[in-house]
Amino acid sequence: MTNIYVLISAIALLINVLLVIFVSVTERKNTVGKTLVLLFISLIIWDVGELMRRLRLDDPLFWSMVECMGVLFIPPTFYHFATAFPENTRLKLKRASQKYLLAAFYCISIAFLPLLLKGKLISGVELRFWGYEYVGTPLLTAFLFYFIGVMFVVAFEFLRSYKFSKDDRFEFLQVRAVASTALVVVALSVFTDILLPLNKNFIPLTSVQVPPLASAFTVAGATVVACVLLKYRFLPSEVMLNNLVKSIEDGFIVIDRFGRIQLANEPVEELFGVESKKIVGKPLKDLEVMVKDEAKELIRIVSELKELRKPVELPSGVLEVIVSPIMFKDALLGHLIELRDISKLVAREKELEEKTRALERQTEELKATVRELMDARKALLNILEDVDASKRELAEAYERLKELDEMKDNFMMIAIHELGTPLTIIRGNMDMLLSGVFGELSYEQQERLLVISESVNRLIKLLDDLRAVMTIKEGQLRLDKKEHSTKTLVYDVVRDLNALLRQRGHVLRVSVPDVKVVCDGEKIKSAIFNLLENAIKFTPEGGSIEITVEEISESGKDYVRFCVADSGVGIPKDKLDRIFEAFYEVGSYLSHKKGMGVGLFVVRSVVEAHGGRVWAESEVGRGSRFFFTLPK
Ligand code: ADP
Repeated sequence: MTNIYVLISAIALLINVLLVIFVSVTERKNTVGKTLVLLFISLIIWDVGELMRRLRLDDPLFWSMVECMGVLFIPPTFYHFATAFPENTRLKLKRASQKYLLAAFYCISIAFLPLLLKGKLISGVELRFWGYEYVGTPLLTAFLFYFIGVMFVVAFEFLRSYKFSKDDRFEFLQVRAVASTALVVVALSVFTDILLPLNKNFIPLTSVQVPPLASAFTVAGATVVACVLLKYRFLPSEVMLNNLVKSIEDGFIVIDRFGRIQLANEPVEELFGVESKKIVGKPLKDLEVMVKDEAKELIRIVSELKELRKPVELPSGVLEVIVSPIMFKDALLGHLIELRDISKLVAREKELEEKTRALERQTEELKATVRELMDARKALLNILEDVDASKRELAEAYERLKELDEMKDNFMMIAIHELGTPLTIIRGNMDMLLSGVFGELSYEQQERLLVISESVNRLIKLLDDLRAVMTIKEGQLRLDKKEHSTKTLVYDVVRDLNALLRQRGHVLRVSVPDVKVVCDGEKIKSAIFNLLENAIKFTPEGGSIEITVEEISESGKDYVRFCVADSGVGIPKDKLDRIFEAFYEVGSYLSHKKGMGVGLFVVRSVVEAHGGRVWAESEVGRGSRFFFTLPK
């Protein structure tokens, strides 16, 4: 029997030593690891004492003290661990009070040390069936109750960690495992190693004696804690891989070298319509009868286990199937089958392709348009070149015309000047001849002289008109404005043309009110003269001519309107606008009445220089009406 208890203590010691080595290697850099090492050292000291006692060595009292020393330091180191674990949650829950409490616990333990050494805690040893057992003093009992109290504080700390670690799933899982293990271990240990010894290890009211088993419990607990730390801190690659495969959206199947399924994740379950539990361990080929109809083809493709990468179309979408070998030192370990859902990718690719095609079409259209535009540009450039050439020709022609015009003007000026002087001399002499200064003339001589005089007068008038045209063309028309009576203006002209009127046998009606108008009298008279002369000229003999003057208002302004109407040959409609141009004649229908085509041009220039307007209304064969206005 003794041997078993020795064995328990020995194993506990061994495991604790191994754990302390393991933890100090793996966890030495963090507080949790350090506190755990301290706790394990306390446990080891305890285990050493216990083992030695149970080995029934010579000095059981000494080893009991050693054991007790370990027990003394369990409360502070355990509390220390509880305030550091788990790391992140604990950092958040750090409080000053913990520090003081921890210091107090360490101080109490240290304070008990001299008492222990002086024999104030252990009074002696007794031999039991499992070995020597020490007999504690009431002070030790007090310490053990203090120990239980500290365990409550530890439990409280664990409870807080449990509550606050819920945000962090990892820490929560660790706290759950470590706290529950620690509390169970503590409860059992307190029961077997503190409470039962008070009754000489007999279960109350029975004759069953239970040896202290705390070392066994603690070593089990310590192992769990170490495992938990190990599991969550250094997640084994297997766990990592398992979880990785589970969290991947693509389907993953791992096949071993015998063609059996070793692993299949959730997407595979969905695809095949079978739980992975049911297919793991089965040969891939057997799956064909188990899976959904639509996945059968897929199984056929992958079960050949040939390295491949190809898209497979299923009713639910497009999958990319990738089969790759898993090698281990040049030997085939198995195969990895990836089933990647590329429906969206394919759809996007199609969409992209369509867009690219549309883009290409547009580019082509654009190119064609650009080509057309280039052609049009070329054509336009040609046209522009032509236009340029035409413009140049036109400019040259214009220059030539201008030169000719200038030559003509010069010639005209010379002609007017050279003809004017002798004509005036001729008229002067003729007037003197007619007045009888040089002796009485016979009737026949007078008649002849009158005909010559009339022609000379016409020539002088023509020269006057030409001079006027030249003046107007050179922009040198000067007005000598004064107030005139419309009556005077009209009657002066009628008087001058009276002889001609009578000669042609026309009836003239004059209806002119006496209106005052500011104008260049001579020039307006020459305008009326031209109009009346034309009326006489272009009306067959015995016609009727009418001169009227009216006061009118046009766009809010007052004008005097002159009108010379005749019952003559009239002017074609399409010529009406042009008759006021210089040197314009209507045509051959009245060839015998040919003039110079300057009269109406002079009329227009004079009237417009006064700020008035001139126009004509006519009907061929029925007569014409010439109007002009002068502002009042
Ligand atoms: P011209 O010296 O030829 O008379 P005008 O400038 O006075 O020059 O007239 C221009 C042309 O207008 C005339 O050649 C004639 O054909 C036409 N014309 C002018 N007045 C009349 C009219 N009262 N009746 C018909 N035709 C007219």
